[in-house]
Amino acid sequence: MQEVLRCSKSQLTQMQAAYAPFTVATPNGAIFRAKKNGTTITAYRSGKVMFQGNNTTAESKLWQTSTSTKMTNKPTDSEGLPPDFANWSVLGSDEVGTGSYFGPLTVAAVYVDSAHLAQVRQLGIQDSKKVTDPEIIRMAKQLLTFLPYHVVNLMPPKYNQLMQRYNQGQLKALCHNLALQTVLNKINPTKPDGILIDQFVAPATYYRYLKGQPNIISQHVYFKIKGEQAHLAVAAASIIARYVSLMAMDQLTEQAKITLPIGAGNAVDQIAAKLLHEGQALGQFAKLHFANTAKAEKLAQRYES
Ligand code: MG
Repeated sequence: MQEVLRCSKSQLTQMQAAYAPFTVATPNGAIFRAKKNGTTITAYRSGKVMFQGNNTTAESKLWQTSTSTKMTNKPTDSEGLPPDFANWSVLGSDEVGTGSYFGPLTVAAVYVDSAHLAQVRQLGIQDSKKVTDPEIIRMAKQLLTFLPYHVVNLMPPKYNQLMQRYNQGQLKALCHNLALQTVLNKINPTKPDGILIDQFVAPATYYRYLKGQPNIISQHVYFKIKGEQAHLAVAAASIIARYVSLMAMDQLTEQAKITLPIGAGNAVDQIAAKLLHEGQALGQFAKLHFANTAKAEKLAQRYES
């Protein structure tokens, strides 16, 4: 059983006093948590109070007044996250480029505190995959003016070098951890209510990848597939990562003197073969461990003969 009330500030104060004898450890983002008669009561800064357990109805009835509102079903897209997570001050991270042969691996971490949520939302931010390039550029340029962020952009030469030592998942985890760490340092002494990583691997695997690292960010960390739907910080990180990646692709295209396609399909093999034929070093432009490398070499041989 679960019931949620939205309460006023003064009501929250009353509740906190009333439940003081029953309090237990306070979870992330909560004001207090109490256990009474088989019911767990958790009050959040946003004014939401959650009643869970055997006597939820009886207990929540005590507080249903004209100033409190009973709330129905929690939104499904925040499953696994605390209620009202979308309104927290969150440091979010996301990456781009892992499935693309040409171009860098780019990871961005961005801090969006609750005071800036409206401003970020106003930009029309959504999942960067559904947004056109000019829109990405417009939004990113705005975001970069007022949000604390850090981008780890591994251009192909560096990426290829690191892939000698790590697998791609590991490399992603290292980049996320570094980006998050850097933003935490930037905003210090401010601490986010939570950290949300756009999930690319099971959390246990993520931390296994980071084993032995000097600074592992793990406090208040949440993982969420489609994290951009759970908090604007991840949506903003996604936009900024896309933006940096786009700029890098432009730079590489200029260097290669040929337009480098994204993805890892046939068009990519053709261009890679062309570069090889011209005597250019693929490692300057591409992620060499992809199967495209062998395919391009084969195609290039045909040019020669
Ligand atoms: Mg992602």
